[in-house]
Amino acid sequence: MAIVEIWTDGACSGNPGVGGWGVLLRCGEFEKELSGREPDTTNNRMELTAAIKGLEALRNSSEVKLYTDSQYVQKGITEWIHGWKKNNWKTADKKPVKNEDLWQKLCALAEQHKVEFIWVRGHSGLEENERVDMLAVSAIHGCVYNDSENKACTSLKELQGLGLIKETEDIDAIERVIEKYPVLIPSSVLKKIDAEPVRLQFVPDARELIVKEDELADPIGDWKDSPMTGVVHRYPDRVLLKVTNACKVNCRFCFRKERLLNQTVGGGFLASEQDIDNAAAYIRERKEVSEVLLSGGDPLTLSDKKLKTIIDKICDIEHVKIIRINTRAPVADSKRITDGLIRVLKCRKAVYIMLHCNHSKELGEEERLACAKIIDAGIPILSQSVLLKGVNDSYDVLAELMKTFAKNRIIPHYLHHLDKAKGISHFRVPIETGQELVKRLRGNISGICQPRYIIDIPGGFGKCPLESAFIQEQKGGELIIEDWKGRVHKYS
Ligand code: SF4
Repeated sequence: MAIVEIWTDGACSGNPGVGGWGVLLRCGEFEKELSGREPDTTNNRMELTAAIKGLEALRNSSEVKLYTDSQYVQKGITEWIHGWKKNNWKTADKKPVKNEDLWQKLCALAEQHKVEFIWVRGHSGLEENERVDMLAVSAIHGCVYNDSENKACTSLKELQGLGLIKETEDIDAIERVIEKYPVLIPSSVLKKIDAEPVRLQFVPDARELIVKEDELADPIGDWKDSPMTGVVHRYPDRVLLKVTNACKVNCRFCFRKERLLNQTVGGGFLASEQDIDNAAAYIRERKEVSEVLLSGGDPLTLSDKKLKTIIDKICDIEHVKIIRINTRAPVADSKRITDGLIRVLKCRKAVYIMLHCNHSKELGEEERLACAKIIDAGIPILSQSVLLKGVNDSYDVLAELMKTFAKNRIIPHYLHHLDKAKGISHFRVPIETGQELVKRLRGNISGICQPRYIIDIPGGFGKCPLESAFIQEQKGGELIIEDWKGRVHKYS
């Protein structure tokens, strides 16, 4: 009988979190790869699932060598399981065996074959182990998309294949950048990537390795204002809830870029039921909190079911009146804006969508329709853009962006000065340039197209407007004020 080799691996972005599993089956010349994902699981469950899926794929009773880099799986199935069975699926200290359902399944499958479970060290250069690891991690990345067509570009090889990284670039450096800050560009964004302002936002750049002295891992001071997992409470009436660290697309200038460090196996973040319950209890105790901001990551990477659970829990808090959702989904994955999602968003509280979009080229026909669908459901959309060198740091581009928002009933809201996150100095625009740009907008385009230019003061001191450029002097009740044409006036 030919021996079948089964290589397996599981991964989880957050533990619990979004999980993926990968399997490679080999028998002689024949090879087959399998992978899958689950929205809310654990690393151990994914490791077990990979082994189960591998064995389930066998049609006939076989002699199998099953390779896993999980000691939990290998030791569990070869040693611990005998005691568990004897103790009626209880551990030595009489606690129920975790993942009993999967252990029972694996055990039953193993009995149908002659299986040798072999542990291999993960990431030790074994080609097959690397392959199944990639399958599992890719499955996680695919999980933030709700349709299989919208596959994401996640590797240097794919970027090169698409001609997005030129041979003349420092490939080693870019590889190091991707290792540190993963790349994630869905095909819905790739369609627009020929436009330079779109490309610059999402394609990794060797300059991301340059970290300036004043750049910070936590540029807006979230950590110091975080009383518990996922909660940031800086202002008295608002609480920010980070529900996931996954995004629909990974922006190279992300102000929470450090979250990307944790996006792969084991260290990611997806708010668990317990986290949400704790956050809800925290908010319930603080009657002054009238608004909850769902953020991350991107909350719309969550399934409708998970999002509804979170929104329902917030809705149950009497004194919370407003829910804001920070997202890039309408422009990065317009298909995510489904009827089902709209039903979830139309809840008992006032819901606002805060749309992150930096260039009018990001808003094509499909994206505009997705925004219209949200607005037609009675949910206002407010814009948030980041002022970025090479992307939108010119009057014409900014004016076009704000006019595009207004034309599509999206209310221009914030123009953020770039935060001091690590490795993003190549995107930085001087404050004076930003002030001049918004001053020109004020004079030349409609009042409904005016964003507020703001800075988040590093260290967690909050947002502050940067638009005092019109006021030259202020003494007592007297102002020296400049109009949009540069004429100076005294006002008292
Ligand atoms: S959408 Fe926001 S959180 Fe996500 S990568 Fe872009 S800037 Fe960061």
